[in-house]
Amino acid sequence: MGSFDVDLFVIGGGSGGVRAARIAAGYGAKVMLAEEFRYGGTCVIRGCVPKKLLVYASRFPDAFADSAGFGWTVGEASFDWPTLIRNKDAEINRLEAIYANTLEAAGVTIIKSRAEIEDAHTVHVLATGARVRARTILIATGGTPSLEATFPGAELMMTSNEVFYLPAMPKRVLVAGAGYIAVEFAGIFAGLGAETAMIYRGDALLRGFDDDLRYALGAAYTARGIKLLPLRTITSIARGANDQELVVSLSDGTQITVDAVMSALGRRPNVSGLGLKALGVAQRANGAIIVNADSCTNVPSIYAVGDVTDRVNLTPIAIREGHAFADTLFGGKSWQVDHSIIPTAVFSTPEIGTVGLSETQARAQYGDVLIFRTSFRAMKATLSGSNERVLMKIVVDKATDKVLGVHIMGDVAGEMIQLAGIAVTMGATKADFDRTIAVHPSAAEELVTMRKPVA
Ligand code: FAD
Ligand code: NDP
Repeated sequence: MGSFDVDLFVIGGGSGGVRAARIAAGYGAKVMLAEEFRYGGTCVIRGCVPKKLLVYASRFPDAFADSAGFGWTVGEASFDWPTLIRNKDAEINRLEAIYANTLEAAGVTIIKSRAEIEDAHTVHVLATGARVRARTILIATGGTPSLEATFPGAELMMTSNEVFYLPAMPKRVLVAGAGYIAVEFAGIFAGLGAETAMIYRGDALLRGFDDDLRYALGAAYTARGIKLLPLRTITSIARGANDQELVVSLSDGTQITVDAVMSALGRRPNVSGLGLKALGVAQRANGAIIVNADSCTNVPSIYAVGDVTDRVNLTPIAIREGHAFADTLFGGKSWQVDHSIIPTAVFSTPEIGTVGLSETQARAQYGDVLIFRTSFRAMKATLSGSNERVLMKIVVDKATDKVLGVHIMGDVAGEMIQLAGIAVTMGATKADFDRTIAVHPSAAEELVTMRKPVA
């Protein structure tokens, strides 16, 4: 190993860092990993996993209401936030321990510490003061909520970092933003019974998603009692008459009084104090580390994967980037992550699943496209009485018949899109969808029975 203490030093024990460290160690590399907070990173500790547990909790009232039409009488339901948070915390502790054990079992030396880079091959481990010489350094430090709002009282907002640890469930909540996190948490709060409003600068939720999905989700949220405040921003927040209340002033001149304001205005790469400027590591304006297709920075011994590179900020992408890095550098198997087709779900209620191009993107890239769309009440709604609609849409390239995008809103859309994603990744045509035998009775069968284009 020459003058190096380790082959690989990984900074950050989240989705990308853990995968890279484990795979590299499996190839016999000497690997050290530093994590300053908790093993598992954002996804496990304060992201995907606890969020999904809260989503499950928020959907029980629907099940209670739906059951009446099927003959059930459910007694008066009540909800206890501390029980949910306690049980969620126990599960997160369990998962965190699994992450640490898996790393150690793979032979990775793990250190509970912040780490910073001193030069192209030296990492400073703050907890011990050690300077570790590494042949390769992998930055996998993830992201952190953007709190750039500069209006008075902005510090009174909570972010996704705090929301998982609230001692009590707020009864009235204003969620700022209209992206993944805002939409998911508005759904959670509303489902758990809070009076919920969303304020966002755009005209519809989830910019970048297919417009039909965006409008359908907006309609569903309105029907569920979530107050949508588009084309507006917060201008100030002040404490109300009683110290628990927050009085929020909006850009339209109105005010709204709530118990909590959640800021979900995007995330920025976690790079502060890492030492990148001094080293000359190239970064974008928002701090994102610029890497090539092999996740290598402009400094040949320094690589970066996951949210810190702000390519596509999803756990499976960070994991795959970490895996490709380790295979390529330490396993003699060179491959690169394809970021072009990414199935993704938004765990709103109703849920969204989407893969490939939106109609707008497809028209811009391919010109002539065919649109297949259906909107219907799910079979369960016939007895439950729910008026909520399921939306399914397929975007097809007219010239080649290739399916360019599939967009779903409705129960288990996330599960459906994972499977549709296989077909789209394989390059399926609409004819392939059409010749697939339907599963009956299901909602998903509509994906293979839409015959006539609507546009
Ligand atoms: P992270 O998982 O953020 O890990 C980075 C780690 O580095 C952290 O543990 C941090 O403490 C550590 N660290 C940072 N700096 C240092 C340092 N200097 N020294 C030592 N350690 C350091 N994605 C999905 O695919 N599905 C979802 O449902 C989903 N839900 C989400 C919900 C929320 C509320 C949030 C915030 C995100 C969600 N995401 C989801 C996104 C997902 O969490 C991230 O894309 C993923 O965690 C990125 O992995 P990463 O390894 O790049 O970074
Ligand atoms: P998003 O990028 O999804 O959304 C950010 C929101 O904040 C948008 O509505 C954006 O508006 C708004 N915004 C940004 N800056 C401002 C500003 N200065 N003033 C007013 N509004 C602003 O970020 P999130 O924080 O919701 O989530 C971060 C990422 O984490 C996601 O992009 C996703 O990659 C990942 N994630 C994935 C999940 C999943 O897979 N289910 C769940 C949660 C997070 P506009 O659209 O107008 O720019």
